Amino acid sequence: MGALSGKTALVTGASRGIGRAIAQRLGRDGARVAVHYGGNEAAAGETVAAIEADGGAAFAIRAELGVPGDAATLWAEFDRHADGLDILVNNAGITLQKQIAEVGEAEFERLFAINAKAPFFIVKEGLSRLRDGGRIINVSSGVTRVATPGTIAYSMTKGALNVLTHTLAAALGPRGITVNSVAPGVIETDMNAALTEEILAAARAASTFKRLGTPEDIADIIAFVASDDARWVTGQYIDATGGAMLGM
Ligand code: NAD
Repeated sequence: MGALSGKTALVTGASRGIGRAIAQRLGRDGARVAVHYGGNEAAAGETVAAIEADGGAAFAIRAELGVPGDAATLWAEFDRHADGLDILVNNAGITLQKQIAEVGEAEFERLFAINAKAPFFIVKEGLSRLRDGGRIINVSSGVTRVATPGTIAYSMTKGALNVLTHTLAAALGPRGITVNSVAPGVIETDMNAALTEEILAAARAASTFKRLGTPEDIADIIAFVASDDARWVTGQYIDATGGAMLGM
């Protein structure tokens, strides 16, 4: 029996990167996992297959985020496979490596639509499915705590997510639902494929462990927050930067 046996979890953006690692870890802990993806069905299928290979159960659900009606589409897909939810992980997101002078209005709006508006409506429309005693975990970012001019608009979206976290925590406490943000530093994923070696070297140097984070570093923290052992932790911002903030 795993720590999450009998639970159902939904991880957005689970076709690759951090989301895939979270989905695999929650599956290993015994949860039945809804593997959400935007467009890459084959990649989502790989996540499902990896969970099943570990002896777990999973299904894929498709919904492009950042478009009108995205949350309704996601939950309609979810409802075809399950009748209730215990753990919601809002992980899907996009980045934008631009200084304020280069940020255009359309890309600013798309960033907010995917990173902040979608989680808001996914929660809003998912609350009727989320069981009492459940978990909402928002994947934020360390850039909400350290000023990073090169990602200013992206950082704002994650700041909005943090406000969603602590405000919802207050609202949902009476139902025994915890809501927390887990905030990675720079993690080795496709999202960072375009970062220069100079930026990556600075990120390694910033961590007290002198390396980049891995998707599994984040997934293991999320598994704890999702478990019953973390029932007394809510409304929190959990720094998952490998100590990158210690020298600030
Ligand atoms: P990634 O680009 O590898 O994966 C992002 C996932 O989100 C993918 O599965 C993608 O399909 C999904 N997604 C993106 N836009 C979507 C859309 N419009 N509709 C549906 N799905 C969509 O990135 P990652 O590094 O695994 O990042 C996962 C989360 O962690 C993101 O929220 C990101 O902001 C956050 N984060 C990442 C890092 C990092 O260094 N990689 C650091 C801090 C926070």
